[in-house]
Amino acid sequence: MAKKDYKKIEEQLKLERRNAWNVWDEKVKKEAFSFAEGYKKFLSQVKTEREAVVYGIKAAKAAGFRDIKEMKSLKTGDKVYAVNRGRNLFLARIGKKPLAGGLRMLMSHVDAPHLDLKITPLYEDENVAFLKTHYYGGIKKYQWPTIALALHGVVHLENGKDVEIVIGEKESDPVFMITDLLPHLDRAGGPGTAPKNREVRGEDLNLVIGSLPVKDEKIKEKVKLAILEHLYSEYGIIEEDLTSAELQVVPAEKARDLGFDRSMVSGFGQDDRSCSYGIFQSMLDSGPAGQTQIMVWTEREEIGSEGNTGARSYAFESFVLEISRLAEKKTSMEEIYNIFSESQAVSADVTAAVDPDYKDVFDLRNAQRLGSGVVIEKYTGAGGKYSTSEASAKFIQELRAIFRKNKNIVYQIGGGIGKVDTGGGGTIAKFLANRNMEVVDMGIPLFNMHAPLEISSKGDLYCSYLAYKAFLEA
Ligand code: MN
Ligand code: MN
Repeated sequence: MAKKDYKKIEEQLKLERRNAWNVWDEKVKKEAFSFAEGYKKFLSQVKTEREAVVYGIKAAKAAGFRDIKEMKSLKTGDKVYAVNRGRNLFLARIGKKPLAGGLRMLMSHVDAPHLDLKITPLYEDENVAFLKTHYYGGIKKYQWPTIALALHGVVHLENGKDVEIVIGEKESDPVFMITDLLPHLDRAGGPGTAPKNREVRGEDLNLVIGSLPVKDEKIKEKVKLAILEHLYSEYGIIEEDLTSAELQVVPAEKARDLGFDRSMVSGFGQDDRSCSYGIFQSMLDSGPAGQTQIMVWTEREEIGSEGNTGARSYAFESFVLEISRLAEKKTSMEEIYNIFSESQAVSADVTAAVDPDYKDVFDLRNAQRLGSGVVIEKYTGAGGKYSTSEASAKFIQELRAIFRKNKNIVYQIGGGIGKVDTGGGGTIAKFLANRNMEVVDMGIPLFNMHAPLEISSKGDLYCSYLAYKAFLEA
């Protein structure tokens, strides 16, 4: 009797976690590095949801997408875009099949955890002027003091004029900073004990913005007035205009290569602009398929997808209704719900990569690794799968079948962001599932997610792009 070749049997039967860099040849590796060049530009340029949409419109137009408002009808192969309130971008490429066959769709969020200015943010204390902030999304507050920060956004003036503001990005720009207590005075516990630092609280996140006073003894808050004078002479802004402003505080840092081997990217907002870039590029580059392809950039995900620009908003229904009207002259909601029920959607969002310094929070047998490719995440949520939509097992099988056709699409299948009962998180998947679509989370794993600077692998980024494209074209 011939001896069994267990090496071969193992290859056949065992699920092995692969590493993209080991799977790829030099050519694909080069493609991944060149893909990351475009990504870094996007990440450096786009630091708010509004800036993402401006970028998206320009790039979509250049790729032949037309404003849906200009269209009288739609036919197979037509490419259109629509914008909701300057904060959501919708793209569509009309497929060969009727819409009743369902949509093939990719959705991500272009908001990221940051600091917003409070409604009346400006004050002076001890001869220094500050702006008070209110954090947006899940942050670890101690990560925000003592780093260079930039201000991005728009101020709506009383006279109706909009002033766009970006300060802190150019080499010649000033930056802003939140202070922290020096270690010399932060040693609760007493001499000889390990220093126990004071907690950074929400109300401590105040931005230093100036220290030059006006020269007039009659004025009480001399630095604050000097800042107001500057804002008025430079932008026409008076203090009350700040109540109708949308100014975000973000790290004043460009996306950069990380590591001796440049295999990773450091940058702000990679949750979820890494997936946003991936689904956008895949939408631009993919060919027409049977089903109509849709790409959506939503926002407000970091605060629960609320509001008229979050994933719960009916803006999405309106867009699909408009596609249906122009392509098939059908305008009933019944029609839309039928389309949804036949649709397959990917909620493109990041997850956590196993961090060797904090292995204890991960189930190492089920966790995702940096460099092991795009993550198909069956479910998210916390505490007994609470608040997750959970992808159907059948849908996971369909994705496996699609990705198996291209060996360069390295993927890992995850379930949950960490160990059972250690915490968790949600995505927009459940809001698509509520619309009765097949939906799964699929994105890349990050180190230090939600920190001012996050780390991604160029290998995972490129895998996600290839996977999104294969999904659209399937
Ligand atoms: Mn996210
Ligand atoms: Mn997030």
